[in-house]
Amino acid sequence: MNRRYFLAATAAAATAATAKAASAATEELLGETGVPVPPPAGAKPLGPLPETRYPDVHIEKLHAAFPGSVGTGAVERLATGFRWAEGPAYFPAGRYVVFSDIPNNRVMRLSEDDNHLSVFLSPSMNSNGHIVDPQGRLLSCEHSGRRVSRIEANGEVTIIADRYNGKRLNSPNDVVVASNGTIWFTDPTYGIKGDYEGVQAEPEQPTHNVYVVDPHSGAVKIVADDFVQPNGIALSPDEKKLYVIDTGVTEGPGNPAWIRVFDVDIDAGKVANGKVFANNFSPGFTDGMRCDVHGNVWCSMGWGDPKDDGVRCYSPQGEMLGVIHIPETVANLTFGGRLRNRLYICGSTSLYGCYVNTQGATQPRL
Ligand code: MG
Repeated sequence: MNRRYFLAATAAAATAATAKAASAATEELLGETGVPVPPPAGAKPLGPLPETRYPDVHIEKLHAAFPGSVGTGAVERLATGFRWAEGPAYFPAGRYVVFSDIPNNRVMRLSEDDNHLSVFLSPSMNSNGHIVDPQGRLLSCEHSGRRVSRIEANGEVTIIADRYNGKRLNSPNDVVVASNGTIWFTDPTYGIKGDYEGVQAEPEQPTHNVYVVDPHSGAVKIVADDFVQPNGIALSPDEKKLYVIDTGVTEGPGNPAWIRVFDVDIDAGKVANGKVFANNFSPGFTDGMRCDVHGNVWCSMGWGDPKDDGVRCYSPQGEMLGVIHIPETVANLTFGGRLRNRLYICGSTSLYGCYVNTQGATQPRL
């Protein structure tokens, strides 16, 4: 090797090392645990849950109207080995589901064609809730970014909201996009309470709010400020109702563990007539939810009696229609599949799936 070539090679190596170090340092600051989850081989087998026999006993009907069981189908564990799975969202055009592994600072992707699992995004700014908007763009609620962002069609990232009244948001948790483009999200403090699912920081907002963002002006407005910890959020198929979960019970007994429902005017960006929709979760709680085309509310359940872990389905009137039992605490779910009749369920360390007898609602309803 001549001297000129050697110097060039050394400089290139140094540059690469510097870039790598900078990259690693950046990821560490973003809250990545940096310690891989041990291989789960044998601990949690993939495929239909053990001892499954049709009709699957994991899908329990409590009311004749429950559209849960297809009869000839079972709850399946699709992937495992995550620290804390949350925030699933489905890309119809690509036929894959993405979901957060928050402490590992990554978003995972599972393709429906061959069950191929890969890392979709890392670092992910410890993102939690996600949704795919009507234009097919992914919106993310970033814990360590303390913002809502959107990945555009060309891959660029747009910051949708990171401040209100000149002060930083807490740590956006979940988001929904209405047919008129308005973006509704919740802002509890879970992502700044420690260094595990984000980066610890003091809240700058005096209350934990639900916000709406005007898609044209970018203005961020408070929709509701009377939550202890606003969490999952969903619109009814007709966009007349807004459901918001309060997981305040994590701050101590006596706090809410319920779903509230509001009359919503998506064009005015306002809600009214708030009331409790479902309130039978404590001492556990529900975290996330989606509506089906009939307006039923499908929500997660966990943190209480293990027998209650899973998914619940409530009628639009608030009656519990049925349960899908999952052998782990469940945080969130979404509808996917080519016909939106496949439920993807984020249960702690694993992703589960099953077919149901209904379809997920879209905004606008298609
Ligand atoms: Mg949540």
